[in-house]
Amino acid sequence: MAQGAKDSTSPFVLNLKEITHGLLFLTFDDHDVVGWRKAIPFFAQNNVRATFSLSGVIDDGALECMKALREAGHTVGLHTLHHADAPEYIEKHGAAAYMKDEVKPQLDVCKKAGLAISTFAFPNNRYDDVSLELLSAKFRHFRVGCGLPRGSAVADFDKAFTPIDKFEGEKLFRGFGVGEYYGSRLDDLEAVLDRLARNNEVATLFSHGIAPCAKGVNMPLELLVPLVSHARSLGIVMAGLDDVPW
Ligand SMILES: [Zn+2]
Repeated sequence: MAQGAKDSTSPFVLNLKEITHGLLFLTFDDHDVVGWRKAIPFFAQNNVRATFSLSGVIDDGALECMKALREAGHTVGLHTLHHADAPEYIEKHGAAAYMKDEVKPQLDVCKKAGLAISTFAFPNNRYDDVSLELLSAKFRHFRVGCGLPRGSAVADFDKAFTPIDKFEGEKLFRGFGVGEYYGSRLDDLEAVLDRLARNNEVATLFSHGIAPCAKGVNMPLELLVPLVSHARSLGIVMAGLDDVPW
């Protein structure tokens, strides 16, 4: 069992001081309620706590999925009702309209179902000071991008990495995309993990649906399985955004 991680079903708070070989946040956005549920046993077997941020209408099926993920120890976040870019929407329609049209409908469903939500993934990684301040009234942890140019190697891109001793209190989780669309290659991802473990750094990865041979912006199991296996062999802790103690 990786250091710093416990039984995935127990309440769990990361102790950064116990992490010596890197910390990785696996995050997934949008609405793959079928693929995500199917991945729960794989994550459980590999002691992975991940983060899933829902976009779209949270109907009964989505709610069941969110509850199952939460029960399995994962972080469940929100990703807005219509996937609108926050800065542009706020600029055009105002902050109140953004909350009413994009955020509140999802939050209301979760509240009614007794699901407390602390994590928000900005659609298309679009955010600015105004939207961040606005959403900070409702959420504590935010998945954004790290600015990696599409197709470039992640392992050499310093903005994708944070030393563990500089990470405490950070509310922005700056991710890099993984999937065909992002030009991801297993050798680069393994180099990312090697760097994390070697330097005891923190990194965040984002993708979307999870399936065998998944294309586009989605996570193929052919990448996810060896990636998780390599991370485990290096002693990297894989946690959800809500597992941080702030
Ligand atoms: Zn999205």
